[in-house]
Amino acid sequence: MKRVLIVGGGIGGMTAAANLLLAGFEVEVFEQAPELGEVGAGIQLSANPMRVLRHLGLVENLQRLGVQPSAYQFKMFDSGEILQEIPLGDGYVQRHGVPYLSVHRADLLDSLIGAVRALNADTVHLNATATGFTEDAGGVILQFDDGSEARGDVLIGADGIKSRVREKILGPTPVHYTGDQSWRILVPAERLAPEQRPDTVNICVGPGKHGVVYPIRANGLVNMVGCVEYESWDDESWTARRPWAEMKADFAGWHGNIQAIIDHADKDECYRWAMNNRPPVDNWRAGRVTLLGDAAHPTLPYMAQGGAMAIEDGAVIARALQQEDDVGEALELYQRNRLERTARIVNESSANRNMFHLPSEAALREAFAQRDMNAERTAWLFSYDPMNVELR
Ligand SMILES: Cc1cc2nc3c(=O)[nH]c(=O)nc-3n(C[C@H](O)[C@H](O)[C@H](O)COP(=O)(O)OP(=O)(O)OC[C@H]3O[C@@H](n4cnc5c(N)ncnc54)[C@H](O)[C@@H]3O)c2cc1C
Repeated sequence: MKRVLIVGGGIGGMTAAANLLLAGFEVEVFEQAPELGEVGAGIQLSANPMRVLRHLGLVENLQRLGVQPSAYQFKMFDSGEILQEIPLGDGYVQRHGVPYLSVHRADLLDSLIGAVRALNADTVHLNATATGFTEDAGGVILQFDDGSEARGDVLIGADGIKSRVREKILGPTPVHYTGDQSWRILVPAERLAPEQRPDTVNICVGPGKHGVVYPIRANGLVNMVGCVEYESWDDESWTARRPWAEMKADFAGWHGNIQAIIDHADKDECYRWAMNNRPPVDNWRAGRVTLLGDAAHPTLPYMAQGGAMAIEDGAVIARALQQEDDVGEALELYQRNRLERTARIVNESSANRNMFHLPSEAALREAFAQRDMNAERTAWLFSYDPMNVELR
């Protein structure tokens, strides 16, 4: 049985590990951090990744830990007027067979870790920073910063936007500052009046910025991400704290529910980081080595699909390795089936930046009137089934 080495124990790496273990492969995950964990923020899970999470037996647990919002609503920044709506309630479940959930990132990662450990408790190695790899006739050798090595048949770089594995495959491909920085705060729902608590995913759009608000943790927490255009950047760390007053000023004049959420945030728990990107590439494989998730195709989060793509990748790579015995053929099959879809998501996410940040109410109203987001996303985004799509 083939032995698969995975660098990175994030959402993508752990999804790949669980799918590969379920398919009978030997798997080892190497994570640089001393413990597995996620930052305090939410993540939306649409039907496409949910089909993978169903395969892993995680839907009920995530339903219990998360929220099934009734809709995805685009709203005008100042008035809260609904510009367009994607229904996410029972009709969504009937159409797609799985719910749309909003969850705490830590709850998602913990669920994936549980799935991996239930299949093999010894899969994950912590404090293991990968520095490079070589290949010989017998396989691939992964190297670590302490001088140790691991040998396998396949190596997957699931090591995020700053991927070392990517750099070894593609050479240095500098990140590009997208022009946006992102605030994130989490607010206990009990601090808000009932009418201020969201029961939908709210995408509030306005000149030069937009705010995304939705409930997580069984409606106990409200997650807000605020994406704001800034000319320059100096920090891309997800854990960089910034003054609350700067966030308040960034959203001055926005409607009451946004103000209430910002007002009730812990003043020393406001984070802001620069959002960087890389344009899509047409190859991310070398020999027995490939990439997945943000290492392969980092994206602006403006379709809420970065984690979704990492989850899809984790399922498709396991299926490709099952389908093709030859490692090179399998990695080609995986890549061939992922390049176009992931590039489309990356490009459409970037295009959404222009639409969400249009300079006037009239321009925003007109742009949303011209598009049917529900039909668009149903047609190709939500309907994709990573567990059953034919791999060719
Ligand atoms: C504001 C914001 C909101 C978002 N909202 C959504 C959403 O609603 N829905 C959605 O689907 N996506 C969303 N995303 C995108 C999503 O968060 C990412 O795409 C996803 O986390 C990528 O997962 P990953 O496993 O590829 O990488 P990561 O989560 O970055 O994991 C990489 C792992 O590799 C480890 N690592 C790195 N280098 C090494 C090394 N050399 N050796 C060993 N380990 C290493 C890291 O420590 C880390 O644990 C959002 C992103 C942002 C910024």
